[in-house]
Amino acid sequence: MPRFDNGDTPENGIVPEQGEFLNPTPMLAELEKGPWPSFVSGFKQLAERTRKPMLRGVIDQLEYSYQTKTGYWEGGLVTVRGYGSGVITRRSKIQDKFPEAHEFHTLRVQPAPGLHYNTTMLRDLCDTWEKHGSGIIALHGQSGDIMLQGIEESRVQECFDAINQAGWDLGGAGPAMRTSVSCVGPARCEHACYDTLKVHFNVLKHFTGDIHRPSYNYKFKFKFSGCPNDCTNSIFRSDMAVIGIWRDSIQVDTEAVSTWIARNGIDDLVNNVINRCPTQALSLAGENLVIDNGCCVRCMHCINVMPGALSPGQERGVALLLGGKNTLKVGAMGGTLIVPFLKMETDADISAFISLSQGIIDWWNDNGFEHERVGETIERVGLKHFLDGVGLQASIDMVTRPRSNPYYKSEY
Ligand code: SF4
Ligand code: SF4
Repeated sequence: MPRFDNGDTPENGIVPEQGEFLNPTPMLAELEKGPWPSFVSGFKQLAERTRKPMLRGVIDQLEYSYQTKTGYWEGGLVTVRGYGSGVITRRSKIQDKFPEAHEFHTLRVQPAPGLHYNTTMLRDLCDTWEKHGSGIIALHGQSGDIMLQGIEESRVQECFDAINQAGWDLGGAGPAMRTSVSCVGPARCEHACYDTLKVHFNVLKHFTGDIHRPSYNYKFKFKFSGCPNDCTNSIFRSDMAVIGIWRDSIQVDTEAVSTWIARNGIDDLVNNVINRCPTQALSLAGENLVIDNGCCVRCMHCINVMPGALSPGQERGVALLLGGKNTLKVGAMGGTLIVPFLKMETDADISAFISLSQGIIDWWNDNGFEHERVGETIERVGLKHFLDGVGLQASIDMVTRPRSNPYYKSEY
């Protein structure tokens, strides 16, 4: 019977078919059954192909974790020269049992705005990673980074040097400016109300020092969505959600609306567009679609169902929501609207936005506790104190308690 390197045998004695390289892992094999892609199968294939002992050790330790129902990874600190963050450490607490898995650190690599890459850069990154690390890549992790998972401490610096020479930079970790994410925006999406890519790039340039050298109370994240569809899930997954919006009327192409009705029928228009407007801003006059733009809350539903026939208005900008985050101290929070509309067209607009953001971060650094997200600081001191502190005007659009369950979905 094949054995773990440490001499243990699987507790139930079942030995599934294995390649020559890996030890039997019957509990993990259960995760390979069923119709879904299995991370275990991918992991094993990579290990068999590359013959990296580190991968075998991690698979063995994972099997042991399933047997004992206990996790065995602990964090620590590894950095590269000139940086304070960007590497997430994983050290095995039972490295005497699984010495091949003693270190399995993650390099967070900064993604390009809109997650656009060319294939040459991606191939080069994969080759470099397979040379220095495990070869496992999460594209992209929850943080938005390219996650290069599995490297030993002694190889971190040389790996970083190689990817940095190829034009990549590390992402954020710890109490720092974290990696930002932007939707594809105007590069590929007709709904984009501002240039998410350009704004992301400028914010990244301004805050690069704060990404590399943690100096905040805790983490701070930007996410950029080109319209209220919020494809980056910025409201719940970022401290500063920058969401494209318009403040005039929805644009209507009457000919395209007629074509849509001729193709889909008036019943479809009534049942799937008009009746599903959350504020009853849509109605039918004869066979014409009428929009009461004063009642529209920019939910995007009608525009999504009738693309081309309806589109965002012409006077475009962004809405800013602050304080979104997952659990931590006071539970999950959606961002609170702090600026209902801000122009984001010129370089001066972008600079003004960055200055406002910097002021908010400075206020938070002065008023927040250690390990407290900006939304939690505002919750503790009150929205008025925050608005006074950063020089923003109160607005009727500011809701003290926005929806707080990020898992809620409406029925359609
Ligand atoms: Fe398009 Fe809006 Fe999604 Fe961005 S958030 S990709 S603009 S639909
Ligand atoms: Fe109604 Fe939403 Fe369309 Fe506005 S965008 S008119 S709220 S369905």
